[in-house]
Amino acid sequence: MVGLVIVSHSATLAEGVAELAGGMGAEVPIELAGGIDAPEPALGTDAMRVLEAIEQADQGDGVLVLMDLGSAVLSAEMALDMLPPERRGRVLLCEAPLVEGAVAAAVTANLGASLADVAAEARGSLVAKATHLGTGETAAPAAAAADGSRTLTLAVRNPLGLHARPAARFVQTAGSFDADVTVTNVTTGRGPASGRSLNALATLGVRQGEEILVVARGPESSGALGALAALAERDFDDAPAVEPAAPTPPARAQAAPAGALAGLAAAPGTALGAARHFRLTALEVPTGPASDPRAEWDALGRAIERVRAEIRATRESVASSAGEYSAAIFDAHLLFLEDDALLEPARRAIFEQGDNAAQAWHSAAEAVAAGYRRLDDEYLRARAEDLTAVAREVVVHLLDGEALTTAVVEPGIVVAADLTPADTVALDRELVRGIATAYGAPTSHSAILARSLGIPAAVGLGKRLLDVPEGTPLVLDGDAGAVYVDPTAELVRDYEQRSAERQAAARLALASAQRPARTLDGRRIEVVANVGSPADVDAAVANGGEGGGLLRTEFLFLERESIPLEDEQYAAYKEMAERLDGRPLILRTLDVGADKPLPYLPQRPEANPFLGVRGIRLGLTEPELLETQLRAALRVAVSHPLKVMFPMVTTLTEYHEAVSVLARAREGLEQRGESPEEMDVGVMVEVPAVALAAEAFAPEVDFFSIGTNDLAQYTMAAERGNEAVAGLADGLHPSILRLIRAVAEAAEAHGKWVGVCGELAADPLAVPILVGLGVSELSVNAPAIPATKEAVRRLDAGAAADLADEALRLALAEDVRALVAAETSTAPIATSERSKP
Ligand code: PEP
Ligand code: MG
Repeated sequence: MVGLVIVSHSATLAEGVAELAGGMGAEVPIELAGGIDAPEPALGTDAMRVLEAIEQADQGDGVLVLMDLGSAVLSAEMALDMLPPERRGRVLLCEAPLVEGAVAAAVTANLGASLADVAAEARGSLVAKATHLGTGETAAPAAAAADGSRTLTLAVRNPLGLHARPAARFVQTAGSFDADVTVTNVTTGRGPASGRSLNALATLGVRQGEEILVVARGPESSGALGALAALAERDFDDAPAVEPAAPTPPARAQAAPAGALAGLAAAPGTALGAARHFRLTALEVPTGPASDPRAEWDALGRAIERVRAEIRATRESVASSAGEYSAAIFDAHLLFLEDDALLEPARRAIFEQGDNAAQAWHSAAEAVAAGYRRLDDEYLRARAEDLTAVAREVVVHLLDGEALTTAVVEPGIVVAADLTPADTVALDRELVRGIATAYGAPTSHSAILARSLGIPAAVGLGKRLLDVPEGTPLVLDGDAGAVYVDPTAELVRDYEQRSAERQAAARLALASAQRPARTLDGRRIEVVANVGSPADVDAAVANGGEGGGLLRTEFLFLERESIPLEDEQYAAYKEMAERLDGRPLILRTLDVGADKPLPYLPQRPEANPFLGVRGIRLGLTEPELLETQLRAALRVAVSHPLKVMFPMVTTLTEYHEAVSVLARAREGLEQRGESPEEMDVGVMVEVPAVALAAEAFAPEVDFFSIGTNDLAQYTMAAERGNEAVAGLADGLHPSILRLIRAVAEAAEAHGKWVGVCGELAADPLAVPILVGLGVSELSVNAPAIPATKEAVRRLDAGAAADLADEALRLALAEDVRALVAAETSTAPIATSERSKP
């Protein structure tokens, strides 16, 4: 019997609906996923609860999930994503109204009907009420034919015709009704094509001014045509309701000269090279037959799910930084993944021809892409590349990510919409000369990675960047945050010369990089490195790093299927500590959530993930995870100078709780007969509340480490991955400097030290101010170490303190920058190319 799941923000509402529906179908399994685990009123939805409810309701004949609104739908989708593919196929998320739908579904399920029939009844459940109130469907602008089908002719007015975005809206709309919908291009005679297949629809090549004939058959044909007519009236939702605001000019980007795509400086340096679109290169698809078609089909399902999750994440990030309109293009990419035009031929190739999943999927995608390429319309022809790119991602996952390293296979400048941290790490440093992205901001984790890899980068260059044809010569200026497309010979010469000068300056700084950094009046400033991998540690040592000031442990947790075990973590941290050869290392406990989600630790969708459960908040909701990590750290600390610190702390209570988890970790080791050493414990200052309460923290901590990336984000209310507000999040803003001063003063009063591990520490204009405020450790990306040491050596600590006092009296970050530039001789010293150890 088909089971039902009721998903509601309110546990009470879910129970009420179940009571009503249960009265109609006593035998039907009805499971509830209402409310969340939180203090009353506990309103919300939880994907894990939905998953459990689905599992309990599933008797093998299928499960219909009915949801109330908003995040209920998202939670249900997440739960669906978490189900194994073989079970996912028999679960249907249904858009029917919750109360009427549940009652109708229970009645029908009780009769032993199939899942499709139960869903159809639920969907049609408003008809009785609508008829009674006289507000039933208005006469559809459609003609009914003798075979029961209905037809409708629509004019397409969109400037680019029925291209990807409007076609995606058409398919989403048609797909939400129980009706077969076909479309014929009346003007050209092409078709009919399925109105539920994005690829079939888009390859009809419908242009502006052409007419389409829509034919619908099935129980909800009239509703489908009504909704499609309304959609056509709205020009298929293709006009951006509000043009995204022009990004605020960033404080730190120099004005991009005429003729360049202007964005934000993300990693210093310049690069010359051909445009290499990220992951558009050919893949080696295995051609051997497969022995187990069912296993191949399941593997394909899993790969598709992973790509779906990645696209959704990109969609969310683009929606928040560039608006819904720009993000809607990713809806089309999602539809590629569920399109029968691809899935059906792939399924046949696997089950009937015995092809392996990668080959079957690749061939199906290539056939559809060829259809796009045959079109007259240039815009639609270009969609073949979108499809190929999405399909390629699936193949990459099928090949177990092996192909990730070949994402860019020819030397040049990587061009992408945005890059995730995982994408950035996977880039082949030998081939990638620079990174240019249409979206993103300089303190995003990908930009940080680019800096630590020594790859010049410019971000937030706008979507015109994505139209640059593959192979086009580019000059990338990572200092100005600009990209020149097809540069003149003169410009190329100019940049070559700048690049040569930069390298000469970097060589000079590198020559004295192994010496400690002291100010002119003898104050010692430790310059250490932010590291996320053993290679980073080697680069840090080669560049004169005096230790690791921030070990971002999350890179051990990302891009894998399960939590690393204690021994694996121990081995990884130990290896890094060993490579530092006696130099100190500060391990930052896991800082995931927000822009670094973990696939195996699903989190409830959050409206503002950066304000949600991330950093230590996640550590304290998953104390076993934290305890395991701390046990691994304590074991390393027995033989290496290791310290720990906690990220994203907000209150002293959180700090106390984290310290008790550390105490439990210690006890655990003692019970195992081990003798852990004492270990220094610090707090990261990333939330203004900690800086303002530094007096209360100072007696309890061993040190403070200021994470200016997040501190700027939270002080200035400017999301760190969002290019539109990146200009606001300048760490040299006097408001942020006042917070740093508060920390430094509290620390000094209690004999504790303060470091800065945010990107600000590597900014030559910030070094005098930070030293002047009393910071004694600067933790920077490895290539920036020599230049940071040089910047320290040029300072007089007393004069720097006066300069910091003056900076604190100013109003704007720009004023502080102008002051420092005028008062110090800060001819920028180039960061080194990342030395190859
Ligand atoms: C910071 O926020 O400044 C910091 C160093 O941590 P992360 O960039 O990893 O969030
Ligand atoms: Mg941070």
